[in-house]
Amino acid sequence: MSNIKTFLVIIAAVFTTLPAMSNASAEKHVWQAVEGIYKYSPGDGYASMFVVTNEGVIAIEPVNSQHSTGLLKAIRDVTNKPIRYLLHSHNHLDHSNGGQVFRDAGAKIVAHVEAYEWMKANPNPDLALPDDVWAGSRKDIILGGKTIELHYLGMNHGLGMTVFLLPEEKIAYIADIVTPNRVGFAIMPDFNIKEWTRTLKEIEKMDFTKAIYSHSHAKEPFGNKLDVTKTREFIQDLQSAIMAEFKKGTPFGKIPSTVKLPKYEHWDMYKEWLPLNVWRVMLDMHMGPFPWRPAHAYEVMM
Ligand SMILES: [Zn+2]
Repeated sequence: MSNIKTFLVIIAAVFTTLPAMSNASAEKHVWQAVEGIYKYSPGDGYASMFVVTNEGVIAIEPVNSQHSTGLLKAIRDVTNKPIRYLLHSHNHLDHSNGGQVFRDAGAKIVAHVEAYEWMKANPNPDLALPDDVWAGSRKDIILGGKTIELHYLGMNHGLGMTVFLLPEEKIAYIADIVTPNRVGFAIMPDFNIKEWTRTLKEIEKMDFTKAIYSHSHAKEPFGNKLDVTKTREFIQDLQSAIMAEFKKGTPFGKIPSTVKLPKYEHWDMYKEWLPLNVWRVMLDMHMGPFPWRPAHAYEVMM
């Protein structure tokens, strides 16, 4: 075989095996961050996390019954230790459904009081009401020598939004408020833009080197703090671009189709969602921050 022919055969072989390789990686549902700490994402657009200790397992984010069933199976592939806790990140049903699967497996379901109050007021067939409710800005769960810090950072997205931090391992689990490599989610539902930005700055001060995001459009299974910074910068760039159009006197209705942010063109959903992101941020700048609620409203209820 001539050299050029050999080369072409090799190239053809590489290309024909590529789809098979990507199928294989699409079937991978579990990634180990460090010893005992795993990310589970079955290709449904949602990622959960689980922590295996000598005294049992802690799972974060049930999503729905189907996702939870897969998560439980993934845990059982790794350990037979009892499932001790299922932790919720926030109230929204697309994250909080499916808890019963873990209750049946023996887990105690834990949520921040704000999320709990919402869940109680908005029942759903696939939503299991948490057993253990916490209030304030911080709770630590210690199991088998591993510590998980639960941080409530105030308003940002949804209710009772909890950022999880394993201080020893320097790993964070963050839902919805950071989605690497994608512009803001559609009309940025239930995000208070100002408080979201403030929250991201607080997360940037936390000590972690690896992050599991509930949604990610990055190629790598794990992110890091740079994703938090990039999200904050995106929101701020969006606000500056809208402000520039306000100053130019661009008609309100034309601003969403006028604003372009080439810096983020490579992020997923740029074409589809950037105009929706502009609408949302522009209305916030025009009307004032929403949704909003008085501080400690739920603690008064307790
Ligand atoms: Zn949400």
